[in-house]
Order: sequence, then structure tokens, then C-alpha cells
Amino acid sequence: MTHILVKGAIVVAMDDQKRVIPNCDVLIEDDRIKAVGNTGNFNVPPDVEEIDGSRKAVLPGLINGHTHAAMTLFRGYADDLALDEWLKTKIWPLEAMINADDVYWGTMLAIVEMLKGGTTCFADMYFYADDIARAVDESGIRASICGALLGTLPTAGKDLEDAIRFVKEYKNKDSRITAVFGPHALYTCTIDHLKKIAASAKELGARVHLHLLETKNERQDIVALNGKQPFEVLSESGLLEVPILAAHSIYLTEEELEIAKAHDLTPVHTPGSNLKLASGIAPVWRYDEAGITAGLGTDGAASNNNLDMFEEARLAALIHKVDRFDPTLVSAHEALEMATRGGAKALGLDDRIGRIEEGMKADLIMIDLDKPHLTPLHDVEANLVYSASAADVSDVIVDGKVLMRNRELTTIDEEAVMRKAAEVAKDLVKRN
Ligand SMILES: [Zn+2]
Repeated sequence: MTHILVKGAIVVAMDDQKRVIPNCDVLIEDDRIKAVGNTGNFNVPPDVEEIDGSRKAVLPGLINGHTHAAMTLFRGYADDLALDEWLKTKIWPLEAMINADDVYWGTMLAIVEMLKGGTTCFADMYFYADDIARAVDESGIRASICGALLGTLPTAGKDLEDAIRFVKEYKNKDSRITAVFGPHALYTCTIDHLKKIAASAKELGARVHLHLLETKNERQDIVALNGKQPFEVLSESGLLEVPILAAHSIYLTEEELEIAKAHDLTPVHTPGSNLKLASGIAPVWRYDEAGITAGLGTDGAASNNNLDMFEEARLAALIHKVDRFDPTLVSAHEALEMATRGGAKALGLDDRIGRIEEGMKADLIMIDLDKPHLTPLHDVEANLVYSASAADVSDVIVDGKVLMRNRELTTIDEEAVMRKAAEVAKDLVKRN
């Protein structure tokens, strides 16, 4: 058994009691949190590796609830365009050229960026799921992965077969990887195609990750393809009987929110991407009224353009205030909740990650508070959301393994990944 003891930190537990515990120790045994509290209150084995937590905050690892990791390769390639034009003239032509090796290196680059910014788990939707999984496996990060299923592509049938094979491979496997189904959206998949996906998801006990009502026009695009309203499509295809992670979820009506609540549909809020593509502002305050805790995600790096979950939490805490002229909306704690336990719920992993509690998986991050912009410390949660950034994360532990120590990654050669990813991205653009 391996043991790690984080000593004397301020633990922001994100538990039901919303505890912030000063001068607190966290004992990790193998992949689990064994004890949280004062060392005097529990036995510490002699072989323990100690990590000094003084002047540091400990948070559950951040969960990026919606991204397309390999799109780091498109960072800065197509900006300041509307979603439709951005996709059709810039992104889809490049994606038609992308190969498995590109996806592996783009994902690796994303993982380097995410780990350095305190993200310990991400929900990914992209092509070449096996190569995404390879990057996740090698790096030590945790992920929920699906291949994007676009029912309108000529390869739709084969892509679904591939997705079924991928989900079967990870079903019942004790792994940091959760395999799910990824119907891209209700305007790119016919009801017939969605029926097949829903049937497979039900049969294999897998979840579904999709884009839902991201833009104002999407509803009419869904009606144009399927002749039905979005939630009629979800219901008729059988998807509503499966747990759904619904990225964006901006234009849901009040009745649709009620249906979401009555089923297992968790919205994932993506303020950075929604602002950049001028898609709109998701009604997070209405989710709250409906008793729904959303997750939080960056979306791909081409529409953000980074994977910084601290920035995303800050955006989530800011935009609703000005949108509704109400500074009490989305508090610092609520923004952190979306970035931790809300994400865990959206990924179906809330029984093991998203909180610092005995028995949970040891996915936690340490933030160096000994910085001018984080001084003084009246309220640690306010400092984390309104003042901190990804660069303040000092240490990262996933599944009980230290993946970053004093900002040095332990499983990945950061320099080599950056060089290789830049090379691959340059070559990809040339192929277009
Ligand atoms: Zn997306």
C-alpha cells in the first residue's frame, strides 16, 4: 500500500456541509482518501510521503465537463466567426483531414494544460476514441470519453459500431476511463440514428454526452431535420431513459427544464465558448430554481481558447450577474460547485469524485496561496474564484498518484509534447 499525507492545508471540501477546514491533513491510501482532519485524530503509517500544505488550499480536482481535447491543435486558427461559419468553413474541413496520431498529440497537449491548471478529469467528445484513451491512460488523468457520432456522415453506421466496441471494451473495467456514447447533437443525428444509440446505451448501461440547444437557431435546425421539438426527439428516440450530459443547454424552455429535472439530464455550462461564439448565456439561475446543479466546461480550445477551469469558474460567477443585473447570482461557492461536484454528477462519477471526503477517490489539487494576488485571505473560496488562475496550482494528485509536484509533471515530458503538438498542428493545416 502507498500512503501520502498532505499536511496543514486549508481544505475546501465541497461536501454537503460546504466545509472549509483550516490547518487540515488529508491521508491518502492507494487510490482513496483514507482520512480528512487533524493528524492527531487518526493513525499515520510510518511509510507515508508527506506533502507540506501550509499556505496552500486543497480542492477536489477540477472536472472539465465538456471539451474536445484534441482541438488544442486548432487554437488560434479560426477566431472571431459565428458558430455556423466557424464550423463549416474552418473546423469541419480540418477535421476531415485529422488522423489518429494528430488526435493523440492534441489530446496530450490538452492533458498537459489541464493538469497544470488543476483539472483532474474531463469529459471528451472527439474522433479516434482509442487514441484519446491512450493519452489518458499514459498520463494518469481521469476521463469520460466518447467518439463523436454525426448521423449525417456517410460513415455513421461504422462510427456507431466502433463506439459500441469502445464502450464494451471499458464496461466493467476498473479504469480511470469511462466510455460513453457521443451523439453530436439533435441537428446532426436523425431520430432513427438516435434510437440505435439509445438502445445500445441502455443495453450496455452507458451514459450519453451531447450538445444541446447551444444557439438560437438550433431549435429550428432540429425541427428541420427531425420534424419535432428537441425534447420530443430525446423522448421518442429513447435517449431520455439514459443519463445525459447536455453541453451548453442555453435555450431550454421552462417546461423542458422540468423534463430535464424529472430525468437524468445534467447541463454543462460553457460560458467561455458561449461568449466567444456569441451563442448566448445559459440560464444557470433557472437551473438553480429547478434544483439542477450544472457542471462546467471549457469546450474545445478552438472556441475558448484555453482549458483553464479557474477562468471558466470566474466567467460563470461573473456573466450571470451582469446579464440579470443581480450581483448575488452564482456565488464563488456555486461556481466551484459546478467545477467539482456538478461535473462529477454530469459524468455519473459523483459517488467517487468531486468532494474531499473519506472513501472518495484521491483526486485533489493544491493551490499556492502565498501570492500577492491571493493576499489577504478573508475568504478562500472568493480568492480561488475571483483572484486565482491555473498558474497558481502547485500539486495535482489523481487516483492517489502525484501527477504534478511543484508545477513539474511526473508522467509527461511537457516540452516534448508541446514541440510535437505544434509540429502536428502545422502539418494538419498544410494538408487542408
Ligand atoms: Zn462542444
